[in-house]
Amino acid sequence: MNWHALRIHDVEKKVNTNMASGLTEKEAKKRLKQFGTNELKEAKKPSALLLFFGQFKDFMVLILLIATVISGFLGEYVDAIAIIAIVIINAFLGFFQERRAEKSLEALKQLSAPESIVLRNGEWVKIPSTQLVVGDIVKFSSGDRIGADLRLVEVKGLEIEESALTGESIPSEKSSEPIEGDHVQLGDRHNMAFMGTLVTKGSGVGIVVATGMNTAMGQIADLLQSAPTMMTPLQRKLEQLGKILIVIALGLTCLVVMLGVWQGHALYDMFLAGVSLAVAAIPEGLPAIVTVVLSLGVQRMMKKKAIVRKLPAVETLGCASVICSDKTGTMTENKMTVTHLWTNRKMWTVTGTGYEPKGTFYCDGRESKVDQPLQQLLLFGWLCNHSQLKKKGRTYYIDGDPTEGALIVAAAKAGWTEERMKKEFVIEHEFPFDSVRKMMTVIVKDRMNRRFVVTKGAPDVLLEKCRSIFIDGKAQLMSGHERKYVQATIDSLAAQALRTIAIAYKPLQANEKILNEMDVEKELTFVGLQGMIDPPRPEVKQAVEECKRAGIKTIMITGDHVLTAKAIARKLNVLPSNGKVMDGATLSTLSIEELEEMVDDVYVFARVSPEHKLKIVQALQRRGHIVAMTGDGVNDAPAIKTANIGIAMGITGTDVSKEAASLVLLDDNFATIKAAIKEGRNIYENIRKFIRYLLASNVGEILVMLFAMILALPLPLVPIQILWVNLVTDGLPAMALGLDPAEENVMKRPPRHPKEGIFARGLGWKIISRGFLIGAMTLIAFIVVYTRNPNELVYAQTVAFATLVMAQLIHVFDCRSERSVFDRNPFENMYLVLAVLSSLLLLLVVIYYPPLQPIFHTVALPLTDWLLIVGLSALPTFLLAGSLFQKRKRP
Ligand code: ATP
Repeated sequence: MNWHALRIHDVEKKVNTNMASGLTEKEAKKRLKQFGTNELKEAKKPSALLLFFGQFKDFMVLILLIATVISGFLGEYVDAIAIIAIVIINAFLGFFQERRAEKSLEALKQLSAPESIVLRNGEWVKIPSTQLVVGDIVKFSSGDRIGADLRLVEVKGLEIEESALTGESIPSEKSSEPIEGDHVQLGDRHNMAFMGTLVTKGSGVGIVVATGMNTAMGQIADLLQSAPTMMTPLQRKLEQLGKILIVIALGLTCLVVMLGVWQGHALYDMFLAGVSLAVAAIPEGLPAIVTVVLSLGVQRMMKKKAIVRKLPAVETLGCASVICSDKTGTMTENKMTVTHLWTNRKMWTVTGTGYEPKGTFYCDGRESKVDQPLQQLLLFGWLCNHSQLKKKGRTYYIDGDPTEGALIVAAAKAGWTEERMKKEFVIEHEFPFDSVRKMMTVIVKDRMNRRFVVTKGAPDVLLEKCRSIFIDGKAQLMSGHERKYVQATIDSLAAQALRTIAIAYKPLQANEKILNEMDVEKELTFVGLQGMIDPPRPEVKQAVEECKRAGIKTIMITGDHVLTAKAIARKLNVLPSNGKVMDGATLSTLSIEELEEMVDDVYVFARVSPEHKLKIVQALQRRGHIVAMTGDGVNDAPAIKTANIGIAMGITGTDVSKEAASLVLLDDNFATIKAAIKEGRNIYENIRKFIRYLLASNVGEILVMLFAMILALPLPLVPIQILWVNLVTDGLPAMALGLDPAEENVMKRPPRHPKEGIFARGLGWKIISRGFLIGAMTLIAFIVVYTRNPNELVYAQTVAFATLVMAQLIHVFDCRSERSVFDRNPFENMYLVLAVLSSLLLLLVVIYYPPLQPIFHTVALPLTDWLLIVGLSALPTFLLAGSLFQKRKRP
């Protein structure tokens, strides 16, 4: 279809829609059902069956299966079937773990899916872009990704980057005029916007003419390859470690088998025992558990309103040493209210909170009627505006930028209404606000066809563009003295933590041509100032404190005035008494090396432009910091990408910033960053906890067999018992450790060094020493019973089996703390309590349930034996806890 050649009216008719009210919800639903969702089809995933059989790929499991089949042929049916059953259960567990990991990653993708603003039933609403249908009216602005193919209806300085489609990286300027011809190249269809392309400038409205696979993108990009899941650094390290551990476990297993054969055990027995031991001792499940724990952690973060877009960020969060945060909206509420107005050399104040247009004006401390100059200042504030004041039920809200909303509300308090403005003025053209220019301009025509310019922007920037000032209704040339007076007023408003906007004016000739914003934003007449409060978010101060205690520095970065930024930074305790504030102008003059030298002393960067952020990130990184950086606009994307943890805003953020980020804050709140860091630190600690548990258990299992062979004893454990321990005692509690709540000191210690190994901070020693003790205790239990009952090997084996299981189940509680088991309340983690109880119950079942006894080679134990079992298994905890107590008591 040649949509570009049609006139807008014809497009409207063809897709059967209405420009004024859009589609009805009902019609949209119908079309969605009929034509499907607006998605590019993804390549097929491996089926569940494949995933299940994938679990048997493991080399050792294969050998075990072969060994079992052999033992079956040799007549050991019970053993063979039991082992196969355990292997299959194991495969199921692995399968569910992987499925769960995959599902939760999938859910994450859904959450960060792009949204579009559409006109439905006459109202603009935000919907997931997948729900767009042909005929929808869509509006968008810079930073958005276009959700479907659109025929443009209205454009305001619109530029779109279409390189994904055309390969052309220079953004294309758009218009809404029809283009003649049937064979116009995609890149030349200037009145179209295509799915997946990026709005770099301006804004626009368009009609959806194609969705899903019918879009230009759908046609060239056959099938979307699902993105490969990224491995985190820890997962990669674990994979390497896994290979080393396989070699060690195999080596030790061979040793056990050779010693056993040398001591006179049957070759066949030793072979099966060896293979079982190898299966049990090789921590093949480790990477899968890590993935599950990471993705469960990601879900917990989601509940705290932080969405992880890239899994490795979970780990990096725990290393963050600096957070660079935007001020407006992240540290403050972004709910602006004008409180101070200055014009005609008079300072006014106005009462009222929020967006309700009710308030009283005061001048010199007395309630006063709004005079002519103030009326004009308020009117201009509303004219040079891109937002709207709306009402839902009884509450007023702003559709658009809160800063602009505050100006509208202030004008409404003086009696201005939208109808009155629309009657008297027409906006001919708009140069939108951008945070580099820090200004916005409109060209207005009044009822008498007089044209004029209104510009509003950052006062210090705008003042430089003004030659004259309005005094008593007349433009007067601004003297140096007058300029200083205005500057002092700006500073005094800023010092009260007010965000200030200046307003200026210029008449235009009837037919004066306007080419670009540079033409108009000069030689203006200064009209006045409006100062607004933007209250700090109440929870931020405490979050900043907590970060400080956790060794994380908070830096405020803002486009706002230096004094405003300083005042708010002081309120939030971001700026210590000896801390420095740097402005954008100074920052521009510094080289990256110079900035690196001083960056550690700076706590606030003010009046900066987005491109400064990149420089700040780089300087901090050169000082060895792990930097978290927030952003929302298009121009923030490079800094977000370069930062170790790029953070985008869920509410105000553009699609571009979200795509570049590894973390998205659903509530745009600084405190959420702190919560995510805390969670990130905890997840890493939990991974260490279950690595400690699993590896110590494995060391114990190997050593008990090795010691027995060295001492020329019979096998203390039979293969099926070893496999059982691996399945029941190791798996569940390890998962539960992964869900452990944070230790109270996680945010009281400095960030982890990014190069720190997994076994750092004594973990390696803890694993080996504890594994040794678990092995030793199991063997002692075995020897004690065996020497007293040399003819009852099965009895001694049952006691050894029970001791090994108990020792591990007690050890699991030790793993919860870096210090001592007695530091933590065991009932904090009910998953763990339940996991341990069920493992215990299953142990009792295989020991006492007669039909299972021949399968697991067990006999019922008298109560007195449990004293020995529990005593020996608990001994290491007390031994190690005791020595730790003493260590801690010492200064
Ligand atoms: P942050 O703290 O999130 O970095 P900011 O809101 O302080 O952002 P900008 O949005 O870049 O920074 O605004 C910089 C300055 O531009 C503000 O201090 C204000 O004076 C002015 N300004 C902000 N919004 C507008 C607007 N819509 N029109 C005109 N001027 C504006």
